[in-house]
Amino acid sequence: MSVQIAIDGPSGAGKSTMAKMLSKELGFLYLDTGAMYRSFALYAIKKGVKIEGWSEDAPELIGLLDSFSLDIQYIDDVQHMIVNGEDYTGEIRTPEVSLGASKVSAVPAVRLKLVEIQREIASRQNVVMDGRDIGSYVLPNATLKIFLCASVEDRARRRYEELKLKGDKDSTYEEVLADMKLRDENDSKRSFAPLVCTEDAVRLDTTGNEIEETIAIIKNIVAERI
Ligand code: C5P
Repeated sequence: MSVQIAIDGPSGAGKSTMAKMLSKELGFLYLDTGAMYRSFALYAIKKGVKIEGWSEDAPELIGLLDSFSLDIQYIDDVQHMIVNGEDYTGEIRTPEVSLGASKVSAVPAVRLKLVEIQREIASRQNVVMDGRDIGSYVLPNATLKIFLCASVEDRARRRYEELKLKGDKDSTYEEVLADMKLRDENDSKRSFAPLVCTEDAVRLDTTGNEIEETIAIIKNIVAERI
């Protein structure tokens, strides 16, 4: 069986940084599952479906699933999201798509389709997968489960600093914090595969930690367990 490392946690907890570092170190594939929800959300937006109206039983979203074909390619170590032949990678990190992804991810039919792809990928090779439900739902028998968390203020501050480094001049810290609280609530309150820390996961609160400290802790856990 392939080795599977699941890294879950709320937005901005540092999952992707840790998952990328580990996958490189171990020579495993890195799968960012959030990018899959983002890609479907962007597909719906491009099809003209309005985000405000989306709910868990959204028929207009479910109707789009059959025509949504996702191909994940790795080019120079970067995960590219190809939707019906079009590369969405550069367009899926906007605030509109973030909110859309958090909404589409509450629709069970959407999750089922994307989870099937995730499990298929994990069955073929060793992976480090990050998301919200990897250890609890997608890969319940994962070799190692890590649940990363931090206070919402800390996560918002990190995300805000990242945005500023990328040249974002518009977003304020208060907006980033409000967006993060909304996404936390959507992720933990949805009825199907919500964000939870399972009993068999290693829970790591990174509030106040520098990134290097968290990397060192995770490397130790992996050295002991893998
Ligand atoms: O991780 P990222 O912020 O890119 O994920 C975008 C959104 O997709 C999250 O806010 C979350 O609602 C959803 N998601 C999810 N399950 C996953 C990965 C992401 O519900 N495994």
